[in-house]
Amino acid sequence: MSREPHVDSYFAATANDHPEYPELAGEVSADVCVIGAGYTGLSAAICLAERGYNVVVLEARRVGWGASGRNGGQVCTGFSSGMGVVQKALGKTEAKKVFDITEEAKALLRDRVERHKIDCDLHWGYFHAATKKSHMGELASSQEMLARDFAYDDTRLVKGRDAVASYVGIKAYVGGLYEGGAGHLHPLNYCLGLARAAEAAGAQIFEGSAVERLERGPPARAVCAAGSVTAKFVVLAGNASLGGLVPDIQGKVMPVGTYIAATEVLGENRARSLIPNNIGVADCNFVLNYYKRSADHRMLFGGRVSYSTFMPPNLPKALRHKMLEVFPDLGDVQFDYTWGGFVAITMERTPHFGRLGDNIYFAQGYSGQGVAMTGIAGKILAEAIAGQAERFDLLTRLPHTTFPGGRLFRTPTLALAMLWYRMRDLL
Ligand SMILES: Cc1cc2nc3c(=O)[nH]c(=O)nc-3n(C[C@H](O)[C@H](O)[C@H](O)COP(=O)(O)OP(=O)(O)OC[C@H]3O[C@@H](n4cnc5c(N)ncnc54)[C@H](O)[C@@H]3O)c2cc1C
Repeated sequence: MSREPHVDSYFAATANDHPEYPELAGEVSADVCVIGAGYTGLSAAICLAERGYNVVVLEARRVGWGASGRNGGQVCTGFSSGMGVVQKALGKTEAKKVFDITEEAKALLRDRVERHKIDCDLHWGYFHAATKKSHMGELASSQEMLARDFAYDDTRLVKGRDAVASYVGIKAYVGGLYEGGAGHLHPLNYCLGLARAAEAAGAQIFEGSAVERLERGPPARAVCAAGSVTAKFVVLAGNASLGGLVPDIQGKVMPVGTYIAATEVLGENRARSLIPNNIGVADCNFVLNYYKRSADHRMLFGGRVSYSTFMPPNLPKALRHKMLEVFPDLGDVQFDYTWGGFVAITMERTPHFGRLGDNIYFAQGYSGQGVAMTGIAGKILAEAIAGQAERFDLLTRLPHTTFPGGRLFRTPTLALAMLWYRMRDLL
């Protein structure tokens, strides 16, 4: 596998200096072999190496090549499903434990950024924007449920177009919900910082080292083109790009393309006039628009999705259309970068944790909300490998439906389902 470079994104163009890790060559043994150097794999590697395990991380391309190096950088609360789904599945008491894990996810991210001095432009503050009245009702009930059942009350309901102006400088929204406990960051620099922390803790990282075959063992053996790793345990952290390496878990997630544009530099005053307090923003539509300011005062705007594995034709034009619906005054502004990547979604939109046999652990399917959750996922996988599986066992009890349609037809089936939700957004 070639050492495929990072996608041509604003984040790759502004990445901090980072080393090139070697390709795996020859036979290596380890306690744990981690497959995938995104947030999940690197977080597991940090925790395992800190516990004294001998850890090898195998990355097919570059550290952060996948979703972790190219996402919208929004640090969100809970799961994209909302917590009602979790309450239904596990009951209120267990759902509260799950929510506490998602809160610890954000605290862990904050702590790692500080402890490992990761320069990734982390800012707190987040606005959920309502584009129609029914969204306000949904936000109010969600606020009430979060306070009542989960003791999460760092939120403020914002009513009316004028009140919105101090969060987002446009008149398009009827209101929204402000959260102090969510935020945004530079995703690739956060990922590169995690890699540095994993290496400092003693993990060995190999790039350009795609696992082509996994012999499950025990011990397991991960086979790459120029070498292999024999290990007592394996962590599968390939998420949307794991493909068919482990067919048992492939049908639980669907890769969905989502796309982002970075405008040219707007200048500080203009950027501030759009998002005065440098918070992250997303609207409440099912196919949502999400955006933030960059450190050098651009607008980073994400929105378009596609349910095929092809890049949509005329992507810049489609994203431009979306951005101008929200910010009509940006008509004179050019895009410097447009890019996309695959989000791994599950049917329930909650992450999928599990174990294959006694020695292969995985976490995948964060459903578009993995920036914070992946960190704690890696920590919980490490706990389980070390024999403390209470939190892992709790998360494995979240039910996950296999996508209908089999390998060939699950994408068209999903596209039809999503068409229904898109129509609902317009009502
Ligand atoms: C465009 C986009 C925008 C997003 N926006 C947000 C957002 O704003 N907020 C949010 O919370 N979430 C967002 N997400 C989701 C979030 O980025 C992911 O949930 C998260 O990064 C998943 O991390 P991961 O480590 O599990 O997977 P990844 O980061 O995808 O890492 C998996 C790695 O495994 C490697 N790999 C796969 N197969 C093999 C193999 N056989 N051998 C070796 N290596 C292999 C891949 O090369 C890849 O580097 C977004 C995702 C995308 C694509």
